[in-house]
Amino acid sequence: MNVEELMTGGTVLPITRWGEPVMHAPTKPVTVFDDELAQIARDMFATMHASQGVGLAATQVGRDISMFVFYCPDDDDEIHSGVVCNPVVTLPDGKDRNLEEAEEGCLSFPGAYEPLARPDKAVCQGQDVEGNPIEIVGTGLLARCLQHETDHLSGVVFGDRLNGKARRSLRKKAAEMAYRYPDDWPISEKLPFDPEQHRESSSPA
Ligand code: ZN
Repeated sequence: MNVEELMTGGTVLPITRWGEPVMHAPTKPVTVFDDELAQIARDMFATMHASQGVGLAATQVGRDISMFVFYCPDDDDEIHSGVVCNPVVTLPDGKDRNLEEAEEGCLSFPGAYEPLARPDKAVCQGQDVEGNPIEIVGTGLLARCLQHETDHLSGVVFGDRLNGKARRSLRKKAAEMAYRYPDDWPISEKLPFDPEQHRESSSPA
């Protein structure tokens, strides 16, 4: 089954937010590669595209299984897409390890971004939706995406990787943008930016 086929026939689901227990616990390995799994992947692609994300983990649609989907550019702006079950990420060490600091965000904590340093290359090994072994070599945003999504499947969100000050800043930004994201987003669309909502918080005390 090719990836294009999995990008059709999906249903958009509401995105699970940080704070829900499924987001903060390790997931179960995928052991059965059947039609039901393929349908979950389809729904995840539909949900990721509706929310304009570059990656989505199963926990973000409330499923505690080790699977993510991605549709993400690499360092050369080439888009890579696929499904990875049971991912394991290998990061470079020694002189091959370069940390790159870039703004990171999460569909499950929408509207807020903070800089986070991560290795600029990542190799992700796992299985496709039919159980065949796959390996994705990621650079640029794709390297970040592979690490972020694999973290989700261990119950780790990127806020867990920030220091206290950055985490407080992230929470503040998310609270300021919360009015834009209905509870069932992206089934209901994101609301437009409203300057009225920001007047109060931006005025001097
Ligand atoms: Zn995320």
